[in-house]
Amino acid sequence: MSNEVQTPESPLLADLCAQLAGLAAETDIHNTWPEAQLRLCGEYGVYRWFLSREVGGLGWSAADIVRGYLRLSSACLSTTFIITQRTGACNRIACGQSNHARDALLPELLTGESFATVGISHLTTSRRHLAKPVLTAVETADGFLLDGYSPWVTGGDHAETIVIGATLKDDRQILVALPGDATGVSADPPQQLVALTSSHTCAVRCNNVHVDRQWLLAGPAHDVMTSSGGTGAATGGLQTSTLAVGLADAAITFMEGETAQRGDLQEPTNELRRDQQQLQTDLLELAAGEHPCSLETLRIRANSLVLRATQAALTTAKGAGYVSGHPTGRWCREALFFLVWSCPQPVVQASLCELAGLSD
Ligand SMILES: Cc1cc2nc3c(=O)[nH]c(=O)nc-3n(C[C@H](O)[C@H](O)[C@H](O)COP(=O)(O)OP(=O)(O)OC[C@H]3O[C@@H](n4cnc5c(N)ncnc54)[C@H](O)[C@@H]3O)c2cc1C
Repeated sequence: MSNEVQTPESPLLADLCAQLAGLAAETDIHNTWPEAQLRLCGEYGVYRWFLSREVGGLGWSAADIVRGYLRLSSACLSTTFIITQRTGACNRIACGQSNHARDALLPELLTGESFATVGISHLTTSRRHLAKPVLTAVETADGFLLDGYSPWVTGGDHAETIVIGATLKDDRQILVALPGDATGVSADPPQQLVALTSSHTCAVRCNNVHVDRQWLLAGPAHDVMTSSGGTGAATGGLQTSTLAVGLADAAITFMEGETAQRGDLQEPTNELRRDQQQLQTDLLELAAGEHPCSLETLRIRANSLVLRATQAALTTAKGAGYVSGHPTGRWCREALFFLVWSCPQPVVQASLCELAGLSD
């Protein structure tokens, strides 16, 4: 308890971030699951930030969570991204309709002794154009039979619990806390990605898996992610932009370090920092319930900043930055993730217009 980060201002958070940043290059080169980083986050109490005091968390405000995520993502995007998926699962377990799941799973999730993740994108975004849902559910006397696959599950091969969505014949959907070792559950090998391969994102397959009703978190309901039963964590939203702004911070901090000997870098570096600070201010205001801009506008600006800042850092590092293992090259690859992660259509459109030189 004594080494827990209780507030985002705590110097302990700087300690944790220094350790995460120190491990980031190796993790990226070897694509290894960041076991040590996730264990450290558990020891520093990170998993308690997101949950209310009633269930054993620290009940951080939305603004404090933004502050915490900014620091973590500036240190190691892989670890922080995994934490967002883990947190999505924990929030849905905490707010779901199953007391059994809450009591059985949350204590070990809060300390980091166990790992949970989400497989829900096929309910809202992924594979939606296909005629048949990729993961179906049939109601039985005491639960549900799941059959099919969830295409994207971060840490799917490490999860004790997967909060997974499935669709019934009448189009209603359910969310269940699926035990990762249930009979018939299997994880594909992790996808080789442009970056973040260490997140071990893979498809999880369910071959007629029986899930007892005690693990039902929400539904059956139409659009379970937006209906009341599916609440507990908004998809995308602030956290996606926050991680982009955190990664941009790492790139700009690198440039600031170079400006001491290279005066020509001063003006572009200052301009990027101004942009990053304005976004950070807007993020914090939005998290506090004010409305400096819409979520969508913020995401468009955050995507633009993270691509520009990481490429400016690579430009600054010159050829050395293009050598495998240099952080600027990794940051450029990681920034591309924001073009595809929980990216609503207007944000996709804005990115395409910017890339095509069509924006003002
Ligand atoms: C690294 C990574 C980690 C992720 N982790 C998670 C996670 O832990 N949990 C989770 O729930 N989600 C996760 N996601 C999923 C993410 O949130 C999005 O849902 C996903 O990126 C959407 O991409 P898709 O390729 O599945 O989209 P799709 O819409 O399925 O597109 C796939 C392909 O289908 C074709 N296509 C698309 N639309 C049409 C159409 N209308 N007609 C014909 N063809 C079409 C296109 O060729 C397209 O390339 C992750 C994604 C990534 C990249």
